[in-house]
Amino acid sequence: MKAIVTLNAGSSSIKFALYELSGDSLRFDAGGKIEEIGTAPRLRARNADGDILERNWPHDGALSHEHLLEDLFAWAATQLGDREIIAIGHRIVHGGPYFAAPRLLDDALLDALDTLIPLAPLHQPHNLAAVRALRALAPDLPQIACFDTAFHHDLPALATRLPLPRAFHDQGVRRYGFHGLSYEHIAERLREADPDRVGGRVIAAHLGNGASMCAIRAGKSVDTTMGFTALDGLMMGTRSGALDPGVILHLQTQLRMSAQEVETLLYKKSGLLGVSGLSSDMRSLHTSDAPQAAEAIDLFVRHAARQAAALIPALGGLDGMVFTAGIGENDPVIRARICESLSWLGLALDAEANGRNASIISAQGSKVLVRVIPTDEEAVIARHVVNLIKFEGSHSP
Ligand code: ADP
Repeated sequence: MKAIVTLNAGSSSIKFALYELSGDSLRFDAGGKIEEIGTAPRLRARNADGDILERNWPHDGALSHEHLLEDLFAWAATQLGDREIIAIGHRIVHGGPYFAAPRLLDDALLDALDTLIPLAPLHQPHNLAAVRALRALAPDLPQIACFDTAFHHDLPALATRLPLPRAFHDQGVRRYGFHGLSYEHIAERLREADPDRVGGRVIAAHLGNGASMCAIRAGKSVDTTMGFTALDGLMMGTRSGALDPGVILHLQTQLRMSAQEVETLLYKKSGLLGVSGLSSDMRSLHTSDAPQAAEAIDLFVRHAARQAAALIPALGGLDGMVFTAGIGENDPVIRARICESLSWLGLALDAEANGRNASIISAQGSKVLVRVIPTDEEAVIARHVVNLIKFEGSHSP
């Protein structure tokens, strides 16, 4: 039996999944993630029956990504049975202006993707390090890049432009958009649910540790809240989201913070964590009595609603809203509060349906159909891998 592996290697976690390939169809077989890399790494995985498989590393947090990947593969080998891994698909955060379609990762592509590291300093290096680590372990195994920017590749020109002198745009300082694999999955689900209109004019809200929104019209991205980097837009777990650029000037010129310190502040110490002073995790904040926790949640909701409203001009109205990712799929309180702030657009929720994370949570008569759709970036990657292998196969001599 052939199998495909997907990998999403981040700074503090590595997510993975294994799919069995039979003919053209993929079947989820097992998946999970290594969390808390750098502090106390631990593997949690489940097989298709939902059985939990776990692995704790007895040592300290100093194990490198490479070491953990090697260990993950050794562990996976014991689980494979008669399955043979024929390709690995990677989530690669940045494809820059040129790369959109999934591509086989060779030396030339890796070199080109290295040049995009400054545009995604916290994600791209880990994505590429995982590719290189696996090449060393299994040099003949095809590895395929699937880009998180790809779904936004054909954004209308205006949505890609920053209000800076033109020369910067030509040098690549422009808006790209991220979370594209997640939005691609949402657009596919909407196409199934509403084949004629793909949901019409929709805002998809990916609310996880990273958070963004995408304006989708007729199945295509027409605007999105993350821009040049994955720092823009919504307030997130540890990232600031959109910020007065004057603040950054102040931090550097008046407070004498180095570029490195500003980067760490904006990516790792801001957002829910920074405002609450307690945690970047929405669940923890809900359980806290501290007023700072409540204020962090209030600000998250305020910024989410503000960013959603800012997408309306690109859509010219709103027919649907979709919530996805950790918070979007599981947190009725946050969904209700964001929808309440947007009620002037015609959103009304059914409290009972919202409370049980139903697939449609809007009330009958709501002008905007509100859905909860679990994201599945791994399935999108696996499907791309299969399509690419088929395409390459049909073009080989
Ligand atoms: P990542 O961006 O790392 O993939 P996730 O999509 O897993 O993140 O989202 C993580 C966020 O989702 C955290 O803030 C977490 O608290 C939140 N979350 C997960 N489950 C729930 C839940 N049942 N209720 C509220 N928030 C949740």
